Parts: sequence; structure tokens; C-alpha cells
Amino acid sequence: MRQTESGILYLVATPIGNLRDFTFRAVEVLQHVDLIACEDTRHSRPLLDHYGISTPTSPLHEHNEDVASSRLVERLRQGESIALISDAGTPLISDPGFPLVRAARSAGIRVVPVPGPCALVAALSASGLPADHFAFEGFLPRKSSARKASLESLRNDSRTLIFYESSHRVVDCIADIASIFPADRRLVIARELTKLFETIVDTRVGEALSLLEGDPNMRKGEFVLVLEGAPALGRTEGLTAEEERVLRILLEDCSVKTAASLTAKITGARRETVYRAALRLAEGK
Ligand code: SAM
Repeated sequence: MRQTESGILYLVATPIGNLRDFTFRAVEVLQHVDLIACEDTRHSRPLLDHYGISTPTSPLHEHNEDVASSRLVERLRQGESIALISDAGTPLISDPGFPLVRAARSAGIRVVPVPGPCALVAALSASGLPADHFAFEGFLPRKSSARKASLESLRNDSRTLIFYESSHRVVDCIADIASIFPADRRLVIARELTKLFETIVDTRVGEALSLLEGDPNMRKGEFVLVLEGAPALGRTEGLTAEEERVLRILLEDCSVKTAASLTAKITGARRETVYRAALRLAEGK
């Protein structure tokens, strides 16, 4: 007897502000699947109506993810095709969907991305900061002590750092960034991307707070913060990228002296060169 073929789970990106940032493929997929799982069905209704999409919807949000995911995987197994959308942007990127994708993949169901808007990619691409290596940190912890601890662990990271933030916490978050990172690090504040009041401001860590405090409009809306990484010591201090990587890891748990000595042993780099670089890194310069 022929077994029922499993359906496909589509991960469909939706606009992050401008309704026209919706791909032809996204619309076609949403029109043709059996069900659209939405982070918030009421939130997605205007978008779906705008594009004439009348496919049935069902909620999948952080409070019902586990139960809803098992139900959806069962329907996929029966041969139905399902699309997952979140309120805005790419599903799973600081949004629900991870348990569903994991369960679907474990069940051998085909998972198909339908790519499109994503606030972190939009902000990074327009930031003027290096986009070859970056770390997306999503939302930092709400409590200042935990937020500062997270920021502290990133102080020596040479990758461009990207954070999501809401208008409620953006001032506190930037104040914490200013208390941890050197004042001259570049910080790009990208707010309301693709919307009417889109603003992408290039500033420095030491100046960002007064910029927000001096302009109430700069505190409104949705934010992506793009922070310049620590200077790549490899070029200026005579370390290769690999030597610097090893040194940075060891510095997280060892003293400057031990980290430098171990890095020199592991990589074969000159001990004095590594020691000088270790001192700079430990000082956060
Ligand atoms: N899944 C989304 C994506 O692909 O970017 C992110 C969802 S997350 C719940 C919402 C956060 O993303 C906001 O608090 C903000 O930090 C960022 N964000 C979303 N849309 C944005 C926009 N139009 N402008 C700036 N930031 C935005």
C-alpha cells in the first residue's frame, strides 16, 4: 500500500514595516498551503487580506509552541503543507518556530525557507560596519546586571555585534553599552527600518546616549543596534587571525601571562608579541 507523502513546512519571511517588501513567492506559497501557522493570527490578518490570501490560519506562539508544534507535525505527516509566519520578518529570528522546525526535521519532513526581510540583515547591510564576520545577539537580558554581564563577555569580540531592542529599553541598553565598551567604538542605531520614519544614525558609543536623550523621536519605534567589533589585533599587533582567536579564548579563563604563554606554545607565535596583544585585549583597547 502506498504511504501518504508528507507535506512541506515552509518558513515564510514577511515585511518588517513596508508591506511591499513581500516576495511573489511568499504570496504564492501562502495562497497554496493548507494552513498558515501565525505568531498572532490577528496581527497577520491585514497583511494576508492585503494580498488576497484566504488560507486558514492557526496560532503558534511562545506560549503554545510545544503543543502546537506536535499537532502541526502530525498534519504534515498526513500530507498537508503548512507555512509558518511570524509578526514580522523571518520566523525563528528572535521569534517562535524553533521547536516546530526541529520536530519537523526529526520527523523527516521537508523544511523549505522562503527568504525575505530580516531586521538584522537590513540594519547590518546599511550600517557601514564590516559585514564579513558578525555576531547576532538578539535581545539582551532585561535586567541591567545580566545585560552588562552579556555585554562584558562581548567586549573583546572583533566581530560586528548586532542587538535587537525595543523603545522601552533602548536608552537603558545604550547606557549599559556605554559603561562597558570604549567611547570611540562606532555604533549605528537603525530604527523603524523600511517604515516612514526610518533613521539610520552613525554615532560613537560615548555620544549615543546624549543623541537619544536630546531627541524624543530617536527613542520611538523598533531598533537594531549595530556595534563595531574590537580592533582586529591580528593586523596591527603581528598576530594571525588564528593566533588571536586562540588568545581571546584563553583570556576568558586565564591570566594575561598564562594566556599569552599558552597561545605561544599552541600556535608557535612569538611570546613577546602575544603578550603585548594580550595586554591590549585585557585592557579592552
Ligand atoms: N523576526 C524578526 C526579524 O526577522 O528581524 C525580528 C522579530 S523581533 C520579535 C522584533 C525586533 O526586531 C524589534 O524589537 C526590533 O529590535 C527588530 N525589528 C523588527 N522590525 C524592525 C524595523 N522595522 N526596524 C528596526 N528594527 C526592527
